[in-house]
Amino acid sequence: MTDTQSRQQITILGSTGSIGVNTLKVVAANPEDYEVFALSARSQVDVLFQQCMEFRPRLAVMVDAAAARELSNKLQAEGSNTRVMSGTAALQEIAAHESCDIVMAAIVGGAGLLSSLAAARAGKRILLANKEALVMAGDLFMQAVAEGGALLLPIDSEHNAIFQCLPIDSRGRFADTPEQGVEKIVLTASGGPFLGKSPDQLKQVTPAQACAHPNWAMGRKISVDSATLMNKALEFIEASILFSLPASRIEVLIHPESIVHSMVYYSDGSVLAQLGNPDMCTPIAYGLAWPQRIDSGVAALDLQGIGRLNFADVDKTCFPGLELGKQAAQNRGTAPVILNAANEAAVAAFLAGTLSFNEIPVIIGDTLNRLEVRSVSDIEEVLEADSEARKLAEKLINSRNS
Ligand code: NDP
Repeated sequence: MTDTQSRQQITILGSTGSIGVNTLKVVAANPEDYEVFALSARSQVDVLFQQCMEFRPRLAVMVDAAAARELSNKLQAEGSNTRVMSGTAALQEIAAHESCDIVMAAIVGGAGLLSSLAAARAGKRILLANKEALVMAGDLFMQAVAEGGALLLPIDSEHNAIFQCLPIDSRGRFADTPEQGVEKIVLTASGGPFLGKSPDQLKQVTPAQACAHPNWAMGRKISVDSATLMNKALEFIEASILFSLPASRIEVLIHPESIVHSMVYYSDGSVLAQLGNPDMCTPIAYGLAWPQRIDSGVAALDLQGIGRLNFADVDKTCFPGLELGKQAAQNRGTAPVILNAANEAAVAAFLAGTLSFNEIPVIIGDTLNRLEVRSVSDIEEVLEADSEARKLAEKLINSRNS
């Protein structure tokens, strides 16, 4: 019989999403090591109900109150012991709960900030997929990780790759000293579904086309971000915060096959890269088990079958969003907060059919131009800047439609 006490207890924030589902796949493949403690979703009752029946968590959170009541009734009817809670404060509760060891932060967007931060303050092993939280809170997030004694493991495939290629200490940290010899890091980018298209061709693209990523199956928001390359802009900022590197030592290279997930250049001419099939179960398994390795269920890489790996520069005319990200990484303060908020508002409008694809970076650029970049000393200031930028971006979107 398995000893439940020795199994690591995991909370999955955003368990009904693409990362959440993949995390449960890896957990299910390693039942002797991990047990689900808590799950959360916003409103997808049926998916969370199925997950609760299969993984029997102690707690489940639905942000939406009506959805929480429905889930609770369905679980009670099945005799389940899972206790259902609702509201955003409950997300922070399951992230910081004393019985939980690992938190997978996989809520999409700024909505994940406070629960990710709660996990950091409570000293958890945080598997960070929710890059927007780190982009928004920046150094405040890293400070919460250090003060809370948390272990931060990046799940974004590029940052996970860099983490695997850097000299990382036993607390999961990288110290950028001359002896380490790190010259620069290179983030690879697939280029998304519109690689090679002209600006004119991008005017008419639909949400369905934007969400049809050639290599990765992901949620709708990050799929649109990949298509605009705003995902790479967010990742650029994420990398500068995570690894404490200036924008001048971070580069982006188009690599359409998504096999080389990122690289680190060293002063002796060595380049360390991490390769693998494009499947998020690999970084998730790595985050769960680091510094060990476990079965992720991902097939072995067949380089002979793939044959060729291609690399190219980013087309800045077609995808201006990346430059906005580089600028925000340099400016810091509220600049990344504004960029992220404007992007979230613009992506929501695009998915709702009220903004065209090529206007997404225009809205972000306009919002950044109109708001003063301030320094931030606490999370309230981050939330204020976020709210101000969302309102302005929404106003700019509405004025384009009137
Ligand atoms: P999905 O859209 O697939 O899932 C999002 C999850 O968050 C769902 O469980 C959803 O619940 C929940 N959620 C949505 N809005 C809220 C809210 N306001 N409050 C609380 N919960 C909410 O997203 P992904 O899994 O694709 O992405 C999650 C994060 O991981 C993002 O930050 C993304 O950038 C990052 N990431 C994703 C990758 C991928 O392969 N998908 C790769 C690398 C990073 P419900 O289902 O009920 O709506």
